[in-house]
Amino acid sequence: AVSVVLYTADLRLHDHPPLRAASAGGRQVVPLFVRDRGVSDAGFAVPNRLAFLADCLRDLDAGLRERGGHLVVRCGDVVEEVCRVAAEADADEVHMAADVSGYANRRERRLRRALAADGRQLRVHDTVTTVVAPGALTPAASDHFAVFTPYFRHWSAQQPRDALGAPRSVRVPDGIASERLPSRAALSGVSAGLAVGGEAAARKRLGAWLRSGLAQYAERHDDLAGDATSRLSPHLHFGTLSPVELAHRVRGAGGSGAEAFVRQLAWRDFHRQVLAARPAAAGADYRTRHDRWRSGRAAEEDVEAWRAGRTGYPVIDAAMRQLRHEGWMHNRGRLLTASFLTKTLYIDWRVGARHFLDLLVDGDVADNQLNWQWVAGTGTDTRPGRVLNPVAQGRRHDPGGAYVRRWVPELAGVAGAAVHEPWKLRGADRAGASAYPDPIVDLADGRARFAQARSQGGTAL
Ligand code: FAD
Repeated sequence: AVSVVLYTADLRLHDHPPLRAASAGGRQVVPLFVRDRGVSDAGFAVPNRLAFLADCLRDLDAGLRERGGHLVVRCGDVVEEVCRVAAEADADEVHMAADVSGYANRRERRLRRALAADGRQLRVHDTVTTVVAPGALTPAASDHFAVFTPYFRHWSAQQPRDALGAPRSVRVPDGIASERLPSRAALSGVSAGLAVGGEAAARKRLGAWLRSGLAQYAERHDDLAGDATSRLSPHLHFGTLSPVELAHRVRGAGGSGAEAFVRQLAWRDFHRQVLAARPAAAGADYRTRHDRWRSGRAAEEDVEAWRAGRTGYPVIDAAMRQLRHEGWMHNRGRLLTASFLTKTLYIDWRVGARHFLDLLVDGDVADNQLNWQWVAGTGTDTRPGRVLNPVAQGRRHDPGGAYVRRWVPELAGVAGAAVHEPWKLRGADRAGASAYPDPIVDLADGRARFAQARSQGGTAL
């Protein structure tokens, strides 16, 4: 008997329940990845994530080959390709990981129907891409938690399933054709500083993080220049690292760093259970505030300056340039740049979310869209009126100014925290920073505009 394992956002061998179930009893398996036309049609296949994905597929294939198997890659409509491969292999079942987006739901429904028509079964496994399955925890009167703190209380009380090891061998039937594996080198438009993908890289990063980052996480996670977060987000996004295994290993390490870090993993699950219950929240306000966001020429120029990292607010510009250069941005940078766009500039969060999705290697429907809404105040934030001040935040989270100097060369000659207010520089310092733009907006004006918009909008919160 043969099973197909359809890989999606779970590109690993360790702790992989679908692979374990599919190969139980020594069954042959076809490990399949479909380069899904639907994903590119939806505008989701961007160079940075395609490059990282190419690394992941090559690494997965290498891992399978070490175990006597190999990866089968096909291109096209995911449902048609899975049915075709299942027929070629004469498989009676297909295993895959559960996922939460509207797109993933449709894919699962279509696949189940198409396979059933051929007399085959679809088996969907949860806790592959999350620690706790979406929908497993619910408050009394709703199908999901809308507030993080009570969710986290319930989440923390759960005992996750045990993590599984990687299989020793994988038996793949002969004669199943595969397309060539994609390669990062063939892509253009990839960020120069993009991280390397794949399970081997993920496990290396995890080991280093457990040894030398985690213990200090609680104190250092907001230190922009220190860059002291795990950078595991792309690995969690592509599933080269299991969130269940990560949670176990971090908890095993113990201490305040572990506690703070596990809380962030819960945020990831929290967003997934919101999106699973409300798939429309990927594109529409989770909570309607009736905003009439700015539009027109001046607004477009502001957006352009924001994207280019030329707003005249150094910490904002540093973060936006980091995003372009690395395809990744520090969480504090994401909070500041999103607050600046949606509140200080009063631009629709979808404009910013789209730009992030165009570049982020960890760009994720659940985490990106719902974090954007959290910051914009249209989501699950319990303080939707809060506006982050980029100067105060810069001084606080980049007190020595090193983060700004790293990403904004026009200000590289300005010492210390003065770098956060270049308009106050005098003399030679001022001359040295002359290539850097003046602020595109006065912070007090931006704050007043946002307060007025809120009072007229009639927020539902
Ligand atoms: P660490 O601080 O080491 O955290 C560990 C892990 O916890 C992360 O890898 C991530 O999986 C999870 N995590 C941490 N913070 C959050 C959070 N606020 N929400 C959900 N999960 C979290 N994260 C994404 O993975 N993809 C996105 O597209 C994304 N878009 C974002 C957009 C905005 C506007 C904001 C404010 C945040 C966004 N985040 C997103 C969340 C967070 O910024 C990143 O997960 C984090 O910066 C990744 O770096 P790290 O792995 O070093 O994080």
